[in-house]
Amino acid sequence: MSAKLISGTEIREEILEEITAEVAEIKEKHGKVPGLVTILVGASPASISYVTLKIKTAHRVGFHEIQDDQPEDISEADLLALIEKYNNDDSINGILVQLPLPKHIDDKKVLNAIDPDKDVDGFHPVNVGRLMIGGDEVKFPPCTPAGIQEMIVRAGVETKGAEVVVVGRSNIVGKPIANMMVQKGRGANATVTIVHTGTKDLAGHCKRADILIVAAGVPDLVKPEWIKKGACVIDVGVNRVGEKISEKTGKKIAILKGDVDFDAAKEVAGSITPVPGGVGPMTITMLMLNTLKSLKFKLGLM
Ligand code: NAD
Repeated sequence: MSAKLISGTEIREEILEEITAEVAEIKEKHGKVPGLVTILVGASPASISYVTLKIKTAHRVGFHEIQDDQPEDISEADLLALIEKYNNDDSINGILVQLPLPKHIDDKKVLNAIDPDKDVDGFHPVNVGRLMIGGDEVKFPPCTPAGIQEMIVRAGVETKGAEVVVVGRSNIVGKPIANMMVQKGRGANATVTIVHTGTKDLAGHCKRADILIVAAGVPDLVKPEWIKKGACVIDVGVNRVGEKISEKTGKKIAILKGDVDFDAAKEVAGSITPVPGGVGPMTITMLMLNTLKSLKFKLGLM
């Protein structure tokens, strides 16, 4: 293998250690810890597993954590009232509503009801606007793009003046990461191109990239011949392509594949993220960082 592996699992550990130390320090100096509430409506197994992981991580770093489970048939008005309650709760710095919500609830209305200063997912239009302005305006960058940028920085990849090509234009990955990489500042100042399903020469654009960020949701979309020699390749895709029995637990687990043909790509790239174990572990990590930041903003430490 010629490419250096950028391990999200290792970087996650580094960042969680840093967060734990900072939480302990703030607790000692100010008598406060970050408070995070996770609101889960219904009992979808996938949502339960995401929420459980978020709660476990919040406990690990020393947060005050509230798990607020609500029945599938909760009314939209009651859910909005619950959010208002946490908006006004001084011990809570971050409010998370696990998506998807049941069909009778307008998820946009619910997400927009969260106080932007407690919107640690960074999906509220106010935070999307702050991200677009950049610099000091940014409070909570959305977690997956923030994780991608942090990985690039910690892997020591130069972004200033780099050609960055982002495959995908979703609101949660493609558009925000492109916006972040184009700003002036740490891990950015790049020349950015976004490519998507309407792009004419996908391969041609990808081949120009010093940093190629792929978030399309198509297994093995990016071929080795689309990659410039020595490029940094960040594979955001998580595609379930089958099932297997876990050697650890003996239980059935999904076989996951990224959007990049990893085995071939690693022979061309300079550095590359694996799937799983790449971008995946970074999302919850950055959620913890945003919640810590929220408390720091409140205490005037940022
Ligand atoms: P999405 O479906 O909302 O957007 C995909 C984008 O890719 C679209 O803008 C589309 O135009 C583009 N696209 C799709 N097929 C293409 C093709 N053949 N050529 C060019 N462009 C194409 O998806 P998303 O929410 O941005 O997620 C993308 C992938 O990243 C998924 O596999 C998802 O599971 C994964 N993901 C991972 C994490 C994580 O690891 N934490 C977080 C979010 C998303």
